[in-house]
Amino acid sequence: MSEILVVGSLAYDSIQTPAGKVSRALGGSANYFSLAASLFSKVRVVGVVGEDYEQKDFDLLRSREVDISGMTTQKGKTFHWEGEYKGDMNEAITLKTELNVFETFNPVLPTHYKDSSFVFLANISPDLQVKVLEQVQAPKFVGMDTMNFWISSKLADLKKVLSKVDVVLINEGEAMMLTGAANGIEASRKVVEMGPSAVVIKRGEYGFVMYTKAEGFFILPAYPIEKVTDPTGAGDTFAGGFFGYLASLNRKPNVADLKEACVKGTILASFTIQDFGVKALSKTTTKDLEIRLNEYKKVFAHY
Ligand code: AMP
Repeated sequence: MSEILVVGSLAYDSIQTPAGKVSRALGGSANYFSLAASLFSKVRVVGVVGEDYEQKDFDLLRSREVDISGMTTQKGKTFHWEGEYKGDMNEAITLKTELNVFETFNPVLPTHYKDSSFVFLANISPDLQVKVLEQVQAPKFVGMDTMNFWISSKLADLKKVLSKVDVVLINEGEAMMLTGAANGIEASRKVVEMGPSAVVIKRGEYGFVMYTKAEGFFILPAYPIEKVTDPTGAGDTFAGGFFGYLASLNRKPNVADLKEACVKGTILASFTIQDFGVKALSKTTTKDLEIRLNEYKKVFAHY
């Protein structure tokens, strides 16, 4: 098994959906990613939190054997995101982004992180993504995510990261915004022209589109869920399942591996959306995953 290094946000989220609301619930791309990926592989986190970060939230990652020695506590407040979903549960409306300690964060990797072979640059400022990647000695497989906030505020840095990664995982709307494409299919080809050899476009309840330079498209719907409570973190959970599975194979991924990784990511994300924040994901076991995977295969293996 290879170890995965992840850099991303560690956050408190205030979220409102048609199913209810929560205030300052644990979130952040690195938390969702780590909880998902740790079902398959060992994870090392790089990130920063404020003095308000609660002990139980460190303990949650520790309980999944996630290496948190690269998580630093800085004077000030933890990153805070406030979002809302209205009608369209596939698109979050950002009400507030308070970067707080992330504004001055200068990531320095613990020495034992530098040999990581799988690296995931989760959703965070692209200049931090680059700073982390530059410290890894010889990464075998690198992935990244991003969002509209960074596309509109740090496009030049973002393009630099795009040119250095093997795979991009991104929401459909954000892929269209990044490339100027009119739909996800056109966007996927245009993302690949920016550097990576594969892109996975996440489409909420409609699943995903993967496009690889080697074999073209692979498209599937999401696992059908009737009652979506909170879609926050679905994308990061997808990425965690995707990367966690790939790292568990301990080889440079081929296209068949990437396809299976997409399915693992989709199934794990279906758990996240059934409760607020990380609540459902933190209770999900490999057994739950296996059961849902078998159901998914029954639904989509034939047409
Ligand atoms: P997603 O998987 O796309 O729903 O990501 C949800 C997570 O992204 C939330 O837990 C937020 O804390 C986090 N987030 C929101 N805005 C940003 C941002 N600008 N940079 C990094 N993380 C963010």
